[in-house]
Amino acid sequence: MKFGTKTIHAGVHPDPVTGAVMTPIYQTSTYAQSAPGDHKGYEYARTQNPTRTVLENNLAALENGKHGICFGSGLAAMDAVLKLLNPGDEVVSTNDLYGGSYRLMTKVYERYGIKSTFVDFNDLDAVRAAISDQTRLLWVETPTNPMLNIVDIEAVCGIAREKGILSCVDNTFASPYLQNPLDLGADIVLHSATKYLGGHSDVVLGALVTGSDELAEQFHFFQNAVGAVPGPQDCFLVLRGIKTLHLRVERACHNAAQIAEVLKGTEKVGHVYYPGFSDHPGHEIAKKQMRYFGGMVSFDLKDDRFDHAVKVLSNTKIFTLAESLGGVESLIGHPASMTHASIPREERLKVGLTDSLIRLSVGVEDVEDLIQDLKQALAQL
Ligand SMILES: *Cc1c(COP(=O)(O)O)cnc(C)c1O
Repeated sequence: MKFGTKTIHAGVHPDPVTGAVMTPIYQTSTYAQSAPGDHKGYEYARTQNPTRTVLENNLAALENGKHGICFGSGLAAMDAVLKLLNPGDEVVSTNDLYGGSYRLMTKVYERYGIKSTFVDFNDLDAVRAAISDQTRLLWVETPTNPMLNIVDIEAVCGIAREKGILSCVDNTFASPYLQNPLDLGADIVLHSATKYLGGHSDVVLGALVTGSDELAEQFHFFQNAVGAVPGPQDCFLVLRGIKTLHLRVERACHNAAQIAEVLKGTEKVGHVYYPGFSDHPGHEIAKKQMRYFGGMVSFDLKDDRFDHAVKVLSNTKIFTLAESLGGVESLIGHPASMTHASIPREERLKVGLTDSLIRLSVGVEDVEDLIQDLKQALAQL
């Protein structure tokens, strides 16, 4: 089955009781048993829920895995991965990663004796050097937020295999339509379904996908034992969002490509970060491992002033000033004052995250309107 058919059909069957074409929202906490222990495979809704099962099977198919396991949020999914580790174990992670992931590794798991080291995954020697006898997990995010760096998934997961450690790729920014890390050697894929999978900015949900029966068994154990599960309505919303994933992401990618091109030729705009540009350092790897170059574009201003960025952000009319990404609507954000405000200025300047850096999550509107909106906001400087 090809991708666009899988989004709509994989794991989805008409309801056996009524024939309902769309997966029902099984809003129940428990299930009737005809005799003690004699049930239809469902006992209690923390452990299993039929709406969730359909979503989990659908996600497994989209990532070419065997098992999907859903959680209440992307970070709850990540928490289940980190729970595979024991005190004394270590994580080696990309240094340019989602702030919440960094917080979970440093502020929560370090207290339990699990240390994380952050390195530039474009430097494969540095990745190798960072792996110690205690390292059990490589944590990969690509494209990265907000600098849109690209990590060679096949190369870094190859290193993990060679060293006998696990690899997990956070595939939130690309979505399974653009990139399938399990095919490139990853053991686990993570999604914040809050973003492209849900696609309509109306739900928070997370998921893991793996091809390994042993890992899936442990994730199901944590899912039930810890209980960070999504409700059936949220599972329904993500299932519904996924049916148009390929259409939305393709349109967002085409829009982003045109916007990046226009920004590059716009006076007052400094550097434009977009992996689709042939001079982007990760362009060749992106071409190799992604279907398109994604719907995210970042840029800064020639005159790198915080107040100028704030002015642009305050003056867009279609781009909404907000955190998050991956919805049908275009969003605009200012990492230095929003998502990355807790990182010291010198640290963020080192990676190119300047005072005026602006991040766009390009939606599926008509691109002419989006371009016009950015032009008028920039013209007010
Ligand atoms: C949003 C996000 C997360 C966290 O997901 P939540 O659903 O908000 O918990 C993790 N990784 C990336 C790359 C994200 O963008």
